[in-house]
Amino acid sequence: MAGARAVVTGGAGFVGSHLCDRLREAGAEVVCLDNLLTGSLENLADRQGDSHFHFRRHDVCEPFDVAGLVDLVFHLASPASPRDYLRHPVATLRAGAEGTFNTLELARRKHARFVLASTSEVYGDPLAHPQAESYWGNVNPVGPRSCYDEAKRYAEALTTAYRAGQDVETGADTVIVRLFNTYGPRMRAHDGRAVPTFIVQARAGQPLTVAGDGSQTRSLCYVEDTVAGLLAAARAGHPGPINLGNPAELTIAQLAVRIRELCGSRSPLEFVERPVDDPGLRRPDITLARTALGWAPNVDLDKGLTATIDWFAARPAAGEGRG
Ligand code: NAD
Ligand code: UDP
Repeated sequence: MAGARAVVTGGAGFVGSHLCDRLREAGAEVVCLDNLLTGSLENLADRQGDSHFHFRRHDVCEPFDVAGLVDLVFHLASPASPRDYLRHPVATLRAGAEGTFNTLELARRKHARFVLASTSEVYGDPLAHPQAESYWGNVNPVGPRSCYDEAKRYAEALTTAYRAGQDVETGADTVIVRLFNTYGPRMRAHDGRAVPTFIVQARAGQPLTVAGDGSQTRSLCYVEDTVAGLLAAARAGHPGPINLGNPAELTIAQLAVRIRELCGSRSPLEFVERPVDDPGLRRPDITLARTALGWAPNVDLDKGLTATIDWFAARPAAGEGRG
């Protein structure tokens, strides 16, 4: 990556800010575009005074250009937590549609490799388990989550069309990666996702709000591993789609109990209403990532959760006021 020039949309967000940091550590110059809808400049505090890092406040649904050479384009701009996309459904659909179009256009004009940060949500409430890339998914097109799921499915189709384009109007070198639930420092305390919610509740001695009976599963990947996968996908020539996630699967009730233990908390579990269309099972098949990228996650759940809990403990006000 040394000497490369990368554009990161959504670079002020949780995953994007870690990606910007790793790109800079690897010697790349980074241009970050973000409209700060769900991200924050606080996530880029380590980049202050870095002359090879450039932040531009921009909504990628509006066309944009970046001066000079660009080698890599990472498209992460989109609300990502269910609470955020339910609050901003149209902005979410537009980030997947116009945002992906404008970002692909930049990659095409610059002859840059384009990395789409897609999601395990393209599998919807899956009928196949674990989920391999060959599974087409089970998505409700008009349900509450459809603004996110269908935006990402459209973004994948658009990326595929650019990849297939043989002419200068649509041809681009692209890769689709499907990120599974990622957690770590810089998640917002109140973004509604299970990990930060349970940490904040456990630390405050409040009940941990487990949805349904807590038997639904997720497979949690630490953010450093996810970012390593994004970088591996950028370096490789593979078009994807490629799952990036940690196959270690657990129920949400188990997750709540583990976070409570690691926080040294005695909070009770409180069983609350399960969201509509909440996927019942989720675990990535990462055979393709292992073989095509030589990538696999390294950080186990206890280590990652401990680092995340420590980060929240050091910043008791992290994310307050940004819901
Ligand atoms: P995040 O909300 O922290 O980051 C998203 C960033 O995109 C924010 O900084 C936000 O301000 C920015 N953004 C949103 N709309 C924009 C627009 N129109 N123009 C410019 N910037 C815009 O979310 P995250 O968890 O960091 O997710 C990053 C990406 O990874 C998303 O595309 C998400 O779909 C994908 N992803 C994340 C996870 C996960 O578990 N975190 C899982 C699967 C996929
Ligand atoms: N969840 C929960 N309590 C919460 C927040 C989430 O039980 O306070 C559940 C949620 O219903 C889902 C799982 O935890 O079954 C993961 O939710 P999250 O929002 O973290 O990720 P996603 O739904 O995008 O997989």
